Amino acid sequence: MLTGIKAAVIGGDARQLEVIRKLTELNATLFLVGFDQLDHGFTGAKKVDLDELPLSELHAIILPVSGSGPNGEIETIFSNKKISLTEELLKQTNTSCTVYSGITNDYLTKCTKALNRSHIKLFERDDVAIYNSIPTVEGTIMMVIQHTDTTIHQSNIMVLGFGRVGMSVARTFASLGGHVSVGARKSEHLARITEMGFQPFYLDDLEQQVDQIDVCINTIPAQIVTAEVIAKMPSHTLIIDLASKPGGTDFRFAEKRGIKALLAPGLPGIVAPKTAGKIIAKVLTQLLIADYKGKGQGK
Ligand code: NAP
Repeated sequence: MLTGIKAAVIGGDARQLEVIRKLTELNATLFLVGFDQLDHGFTGAKKVDLDELPLSELHAIILPVSGSGPNGEIETIFSNKKISLTEELLKQTNTSCTVYSGITNDYLTKCTKALNRSHIKLFERDDVAIYNSIPTVEGTIMMVIQHTDTTIHQSNIMVLGFGRVGMSVARTFASLGGHVSVGARKSEHLARITEMGFQPFYLDDLEQQVDQIDVCINTIPAQIVTAEVIAKMPSHTLIIDLASKPGGTDFRFAEKRGIKALLAPGLPGIVAPKTAGKIIAKVLTQLLIADYKGKGQGK
């Protein structure tokens, strides 16, 4: 149970509703900022404005998966009010208050470090990232179907990166009958790609590998699908870039060449917000309990 824990949930999308549902079910006391247009009420959760938060009493601040914008702006789909997480505001919390977000950026990292507040990036955890790769893959399939006029079956699908998302993407597209090739930079990854029955190649050879592909799915958060690479792709190639903003594709060059290239952030929140929210809520609950007990406050 989360009895005794006070947390602020600031902004977010439909995934946060699952977080709120789970935390209130477990008896946490929640303050919701940026949810004024949400019709649904949760017992144990109070909608407030940022300046009404009991900052010094909070054990946790739960931010959206994206964290914040480059200047602390917090996105919310449940309010039109502008919300920003400032250093000034965070300073008023207790030093033991922990900040949770999915990913981070320079602003958030600088802010939490400067004030010596713990900051947990949930998506850096393997468990969260692997579970989250499931709705990500389903969203990717949806996009490929929407933006091609051929089946995935028998198509040449290239996956760049063989991390938590890349591995799930490669396996799922292969199971739909796609001819999957995977580019990675480590020899152990090439070994595993081979073992799983995909066509492996070193990323250094990317330019030489793209002349027959139908779909390129990038998961590498670095400039990898460059103008030189795009220039060698067939003109019908569809590029889906899953890597976090700004992605790893030269979108301007793709547009110039008439190749459809789409940055597709936040797919779990779009295609399966309930599942994606439950994934976050489950881990968050465990972390909140451990943190609370670790600070000698729970039983
Ligand atoms: P990950 O497990 O860290 O995998 C990243 C992969 O990229 C690894 O294979 C890594 O190779 C490779 N890589 C990283 N930097 C590279 C570079 N400079 N050159 C070559 N290869 C490089 O990450 P993940 O969990 O799979 O997530 C991948 C990306 O997708 C992230 O940006 C994440 O934020 C994003 N994501 C997007 C969605 C969405 O809805 N669009 C959903 C979930 C995640 P090494 O092992 O060799 O370093």
